[in-house]
Amino acid sequence: MATKSLEILIDEFNRLPGIGRKSATRLAFHILEMSETEIDRFALALKSAKEKVKRCSVCGNFSEEEVCSICRDEFREKDTICVVEDSRDIIPFEKTNRFKGKYHVLNGKLDPLNGITPDKLNLKKLLERVANNEISEVILALNPDLEGETTALYLTRLLKPFEVKISKIASGIPMGGNIEFADTATISKALEGRQEL
Ligand SMILES: [Zn+2]
Repeated sequence: MATKSLEILIDEFNRLPGIGRKSATRLAFHILEMSETEIDRFALALKSAKEKVKRCSVCGNFSEEEVCSICRDEFREKDTICVVEDSRDIIPFEKTNRFKGKYHVLNGKLDPLNGITPDKLNLKKLLERVANNEISEVILALNPDLEGETTALYLTRLLKPFEVKISKIASGIPMGGNIEFADTATISKALEGRQEL
């Protein structure tokens, strides 16, 4: 039988994505075995990550500065924007070393049934970037599932009036698969084989 405080701790771990009851219990018991110093370090890491990490005011990526390091990078191509759902999706693209443009993080994808309507996404800034800068291509790199496809279609219609080239990364990532976990070769191929919409 777990005590009340332990029960609360298990519940908190259980709330995290991918952590079931069993793993949550294991983690909570592990916490009890940690020293004061380790606990303080852990708690501080949680608090300072939450306090210091913000969204880049240009692209929506996580950053500790007002503008993230990718947006600030003078050597990157300014005229190509790769649109991703999540900050985590940037990592596999960066790993390929092939993409030299900039990114835009939507912070989700359209899912009206679950209340994710266009106003919930980081779309206004994307339109501003396309309208104000000399953007020649917008690459849509959304996950290959129903919501990703819906979002890509919506973006295509939204961006059409700007006379910008809109392309979509080639499939290769299986339907229902996840960009975040795709390997470098798959991402490189998907980027190279992108098709204009
Ligand atoms: Zn940025």
